[in-house]
Amino acid sequence: MAAQDTPVMQQHAAAKRGHPDCIVFFRLGDFYEMFGEDAVLAAPLLDLTLTSRNRGKPDEIPMAGVPHHAAHSYIARLLEKGHRVALCEQMADPKTVRGIVPREVVRVLTPGTWSESPELEHAENNFLAAIDLSAEGEVGVAVLDISTAELRAIEVADLAMAFAELGRLNAREVLVAGDSAAAVAADLKRAFPRAAVRVDEGARVPELAAGLEGASLFSAAVAGAVERVLGYARRCLPQKKLELYRVALLNPTAYLELGAAAQAHLELVRSNSSAEGTTLLEVLDQTETAFGSRLLRSRLLGPLLDPSEIRARLLEVRTLFERDPLRAGLRAELARVPDLERLCVRVVYGEATPRDLGAIRRGLSAAAAIHALLALAPPTLGPLRVPPTGLDVLPELHALLEAALVERPPVLSKEGSIFREGYDAELDRLAVARLEGSSDIAAVEATLREETGISNLRVKYTRVFGWYIEVTRSQAGRAPSDWSRKQTVASGERFTTPRLDELAASMLESEERFRERELELFGTVVASAASAARRIHALGHMLAALDVSASLAEVARQFDYVEPIIEDVPSLVLHEARHPVVERMNRLERFVPNDVDLGAQSSKLWLITGPNMAGKSTFLRQTALAVVMAQMGSFVAAKSARIGIVDKVLSRLGANDNLALGESTFMVEMREMAHILRTATQSSLVIVDEIGRGTSTFDGMAIAWSVLEYLSNEVRCRCLFATHYQELTAEAARSSAVENHSVAAIEAEGKITFLHRVQPGAAARSYGVSVAELAGLPARVVGGARSRLAELESSAGGRTGAASGVAESPAASTARGLNEAELELLSELGAAHLDSWNGLKALEFLHALQEASGRGAAARAKRS
Ligand code: ADP
Repeated sequence: MAAQDTPVMQQHAAAKRGHPDCIVFFRLGDFYEMFGEDAVLAAPLLDLTLTSRNRGKPDEIPMAGVPHHAAHSYIARLLEKGHRVALCEQMADPKTVRGIVPREVVRVLTPGTWSESPELEHAENNFLAAIDLSAEGEVGVAVLDISTAELRAIEVADLAMAFAELGRLNAREVLVAGDSAAAVAADLKRAFPRAAVRVDEGARVPELAAGLEGASLFSAAVAGAVERVLGYARRCLPQKKLELYRVALLNPTAYLELGAAAQAHLELVRSNSSAEGTTLLEVLDQTETAFGSRLLRSRLLGPLLDPSEIRARLLEVRTLFERDPLRAGLRAELARVPDLERLCVRVVYGEATPRDLGAIRRGLSAAAAIHALLALAPPTLGPLRVPPTGLDVLPELHALLEAALVERPPVLSKEGSIFREGYDAELDRLAVARLEGSSDIAAVEATLREETGISNLRVKYTRVFGWYIEVTRSQAGRAPSDWSRKQTVASGERFTTPRLDELAASMLESEERFRERELELFGTVVASAASAARRIHALGHMLAALDVSASLAEVARQFDYVEPIIEDVPSLVLHEARHPVVERMNRLERFVPNDVDLGAQSSKLWLITGPNMAGKSTFLRQTALAVVMAQMGSFVAAKSARIGIVDKVLSRLGANDNLALGESTFMVEMREMAHILRTATQSSLVIVDEIGRGTSTFDGMAIAWSVLEYLSNEVRCRCLFATHYQELTAEAARSSAVENHSVAAIEAEGKITFLHRVQPGAAARSYGVSVAELAGLPARVVGGARSRLAELESSAGGRTGAASGVAESPAASTARGLNEAELELLSELGAAHLDSWNGLKALEFLHALQEASGRGAAARAKRS
């Protein structure tokens, strides 16, 4: 055995030498085998038994294998773990080769290049990315999706921006090169735990990159990144000529900046809760096609800044929003359209099956119907209706596929019966010959029965033995002597005759010629489709835009959204706005709509107080979501909306994933806050929830107030700032730039009810103990807390007194004319529902105020 093995193992060694950093899947018959270190590494990862080849011999080597037909799932598991797999295939049919079968590595499978992976998410792009750092400190980013033949080159100012772009694109695999590649790779791994990150110093392909449209506009760093993704892809797919149907040079400054933190906090495309939570994408995505779904996702993560572009998108959505029958008709047709962007790439790469061509035909027929519907639509859908940018629905290819393919083409081209009768005369003739052969067989059977008198004689066929005559055992003696015996089986004897052999041979021949002709025709149809691939791709892209608009219009209709007015002033005015995701989840409880007005009639910065669970955070998020939705070109969840372009949504909210990485809550909070203060501009929207929790009350409050002051005085952005520091409301009351608002709750007999209504004025108090009781703290603990609170409050002379720290702050100690008790009463008044007051209640209030001020006057007199 060992002697025979050597050449095979030499082949393996050569494959491994060419791909030392890959696990080599070495094809041996029906298995992919791994040898040596690969087997030792992979066996436990794949739950395979580690065996060995040449056991007990000097050249014994560890081995593990997987059946070739199940290889996909094993490969997926290895890629998931960050490995790469080199597929070493048999390059010829072993039956036709004398001696050893030639073997070669035909593919390197990596997460970013495995475009035929069955795990590929249809609703997402499969991006391979590269970051290139030039010696001059320039940064370039490029992403490639082989499955859709798309390349995006992105100019970024610095590494932070490169990271933000990668976060938006959700790249599966990221290549880094250049001086500090190792350090950047480590940062990338931390920032994108789901992506495979590699330092790649392999060959680039300048000639390929230089030939791209728009390549002359690439900076050196961008060109470097483009050359790198293309070079890597080419090394992974040595047998494919890479196709690129869409090349875009993107300028990230044309998009609303959504940092990783904001993306996560707002749960745009991924939910934060461990349970399957809902995201904004899920609410908005009622697209009918895979490419529509991908486009919607990328629009959601890349809202625009240019008002006229946004208005153009909104106009398209409005046109479809206002026309239910048109929208329904379009959506019904879109539902028939397969993933044209990926199908055309499969066609060009020679991977398309007859069924894929059938799917393209269906897509083209739907596109023709869509074209007809659009012709009747109003001119506001202009770009889609009018040539040259209008829909090119490839009528010639459609006609060809209609004429050629049967109703339901098979998955495998060798299954036969791909083409319609009448499409090709030669094929029809061969089909008749095939049929004639089988009627000849029937005739032979009848004749033989008559001649021999064996009534249960049968002429049969198996793949292995071909045609034969079968006679049961009891009748076998009556077989004529000129029959030749082929085989004895349990059921009887099998024979053949020269006439049958002759017939069988001619049948086989017509069968083979039929199949050859069919494959030949299939090749020409594939070639026609391949030559139209670029147009099919473009059609897919046009339909994607239509699908996205139709989906947004449908969602707006179903959920009662309104078209936002995009303004040229930095305002943000929402009337009866809702949280688009929360309102879908809590169907039992009615969602309470709220108004917000930043910068129009009202101050640009709202300080929002109210008990925990009142709805502060929901209010902050829904406001930010309205901005994201408006600028991506969607209607928003409100009764009316006026929004001046926001350049960045910056958020500091709630718990954070980084906690797992061992950073303290406070550290994470401060890091995020520092980033916000550094990057926010006058056009930004900042939402901050509860900063300062992770430290002492004094520290926390001091930091919160000073952040607030900085945002209102220096940055002057639009801002919602939620806090549980009741004391800050007094500061805000004196500031002209900050306005107090609160989320209402009512407490009766110690029980709290949340109204979820945001209203002007500070919250009366924090209701912390009541909320704790609601959360199920034992009655004795709650009781204890109540009496302790009362003690603290009375000894401090009111909640905003000395114990809280504010009285000692320099700002607070400035003369302000009102004492704490008065302030508290006034803020209570601000938070009250006056509708629910009667005369008596009002009198009581005035009486309390009088008393408070009287006591205040006495106190002041004593002090002076
Ligand atoms: P806070 O930030 O004040 O602690 P949240 O925003 O987390 O409060 O909201 C607490 C709960 O109240 C959530 O379960 C949320 O679904 C619900 N909620 C918040 N706002 C509303 C609203 N406007 N209408 C109905 N339910 C709401």
